[in-house]
Amino acid sequence: MKLKNNIEDILKKAADFGDITRQDAMDLLALPLDSLESYALTQTANAMSRQTFGDKGENHFHIGLNVEPCPFNCLFCSLTPKAGVFTEKVEFSEEQIKAWALSAEKDGADGLNLMTTGTYGFDRLLDIGRMLKEIVSTPLVANTRDITHKEGLALLDAGFVGAYHAVRLGEGRDTPFKREKRIATIQVFSDVGLRWMNCVEPVGPEHSHEEIVDLMFLAKENRATYSGIMRRINFPGSPMEKFGMITEREMARMVAVSRLVMADVPKAHCTHEPHTASLMAGANLFFPEVGSSPRDREVETGKGRGNDINKCKAIHWEMGLNSDLPSNCF
Ligand code: SF4
Repeated sequence: MKLKNNIEDILKKAADFGDITRQDAMDLLALPLDSLESYALTQTANAMSRQTFGDKGENHFHIGLNVEPCPFNCLFCSLTPKAGVFTEKVEFSEEQIKAWALSAEKDGADGLNLMTTGTYGFDRLLDIGRMLKEIVSTPLVANTRDITHKEGLALLDAGFVGAYHAVRLGEGRDTPFKREKRIATIQVFSDVGLRWMNCVEPVGPEHSHEEIVDLMFLAKENRATYSGIMRRINFPGSPMEKFGMITEREMARMVAVSRLVMADVPKAHCTHEPHTASLMAGANLFFPEVGSSPRDREVETGKGRGNDINKCKAIHWEMGLNSDLPSNCF
């Protein structure tokens, strides 16, 4: 059996942590899923991750702090009033948030990602950060709106060490946000010393390979701590339902390509929602979830789509990864 020459060359270059080109990445994304080359791609991505991350399986615990019909109306998000899912505002209590954080720490979460909707008070997020900093030692990561330098420094001061922020696929088309503003926020993180966490998301069948590859390279060029792939979930009633969804297997091929693109930059490689296929394709990072979720119709995703941390650890174990090893991200 022999690989096609151009694919073999790309994989060899990547396996040595060399830089692959945008065209290389496009060629890899176009590989048929059942082809020898596709399995060789997966093997290469997996080998790169094992070499860089060892057998570590990371779990960064997502807490969605509030639910509200969000006026920004991103079309893939269950919080958009256009989906008609949520009509009431819910802010989870401090007692509840503390209980989630303590339980995540006890279960060995590597990070705590605090997510807010688009209009959640920034000062309130800082208060929650300070409150959790007092009771847990798990590193805090903010997932909120675009911010200024002053706000970036305030996040650091409140105890956050990183921020999740993505230029989304379809930004400016399926969302009201400007790509440039989101990139400016990513620059803020770098300037003030917050680690930048990213995912190419939310991937659906309607996105071109060019658009997907562009965001993979944005992550590499801006030295994301991690940047894997999250697919769009079509919750019942989603305005994006007509486009369908990609499978976990298709997502795993993208996870592998993004791992090759990231070369020696990342400290971990994420995929969402948690599943096995991508763990054979270079991913090692899951997000267990509680509180609000833009992919769920449930107010508290721990009672809905969200996977708990022990389920995530069990999937890691099944695929030969060990969640109990120290995190490489912080
Ligand atoms: S993705 Fe964020 S800003 Fe957009 S509608 Fe959902 S909560 Fe609002």
